[in-house]
Amino acid sequence: MAHSSVSENSLCYLDYNATTPVLAEVADAVIAAMGRFGNPSSVHAAGRHARSAVEDAREAVAAMVNGAAQQVVFTSGGTEANALALRGLVSTSRTNVIATAVEHPSVLAHVGAEGLIPVDDDGIVNLTALEEMLKLRPAPVLIALMLANNETGVLQPVGAVVDLARKYGALVHCDAVQGPGKVALDIQALGVDSISLSAHKCGGLKGVGALVLRKGGDVAADMLGGGQERRRRAGTENVPGIVAFGAAARAHGRILSEAARVQRLRDALEAGALAMAPQAKIFANGKPRLGNTACIALPGISSETQLMRLDLAGVAVSAGSACSSGKIAASHVLLAMGVPAEEAKSAIRVSFGWENTENDVSRFLEAWRPLAASAAA
Ligand code: PLP
Repeated sequence: MAHSSVSENSLCYLDYNATTPVLAEVADAVIAAMGRFGNPSSVHAAGRHARSAVEDAREAVAAMVNGAAQQVVFTSGGTEANALALRGLVSTSRTNVIATAVEHPSVLAHVGAEGLIPVDDDGIVNLTALEEMLKLRPAPVLIALMLANNETGVLQPVGAVVDLARKYGALVHCDAVQGPGKVALDIQALGVDSISLSAHKCGGLKGVGALVLRKGGDVAADMLGGGQERRRRAGTENVPGIVAFGAAARAHGRILSEAARVQRLRDALEAGALAMAPQAKIFANGKPRLGNTACIALPGISSETQLMRLDLAGVAVSAGSACSSGKIAASHVLLAMGVPAEEAKSAIRVSFGWENTENDVSRFLEAWRPLAASAAA
């Protein structure tokens, strides 16, 4: 199934929420797409070939989320899809965008401090606080709510938020980047105005994603200067990346068929970790959350130390959110959940995917054992 040899060589890769291996059929599709080098906007045969490859991919991505193909806007990834939604869904100022305090930085960058919706100890949106904020704000308000948290995996009650939004005439954008590859997605059932997707979280390539709008919905372009993507996103399309996204979307059913097995691996890892370190804390444990994600704090041992020790043993995990600047700070997600800073700094995120096996669970536990022992000492 996999193009990469991640599980064949010595690397034990447990960081699927950061990025995933590229699927074999995706790599094949990219090679084939290289031959379709035409500009999809050109009217000649080379352009038309490229255009049809892009439109096939659009159909596949739309089908993956039960959306309409003409409502898929290809972007350079989840970050850009979030920016497009938050700047273009309603013609409003930044003050009218509100978002949960645990959103990804690519959402939080568009929200002021007064626009943060508090969450509970498990990172789940506080609906009462949200309603108070909606009462106070003049319409139109845009609510940004993620489907699943990238650090803890906790799932948000999207339906309840949509109900509140409709009561107050607000719109809802859902960052669903952590959905594909882990759960089935249906934009119509979610009832939101738009969702963001990122291809590299589900077997595709980095640097490509999509904003999918609800049927009848529209968005004002942020990237200007061309009529591509129905005038919603200017710029010549990344044809190989988009084709790759389409191939990953077509493989999605097969990837999802691994989800129950993947969850058993995650559960075994959590049980093993707690057996070694009963003082360890698993965030959002017992709450609805992604079956592949474990966010574990080992009080007394910094995430940096854990990451380095695990890395030496060839085990790849991350510290809460991926440290984009190379420095690990306490996670804003855990802090928003009321976790003390010291405890937050001892948290690691282990995220499984379709290539993992029981051997990966054993390798993690073996490498983590001395850390658990020194935490207890
Ligand atoms: N939103 C969430 C929840 C994510 O986890 C990520 C990536 O980690 C993004 C957005 C950004 O996506 P991309 O890497 O495609 O820009």
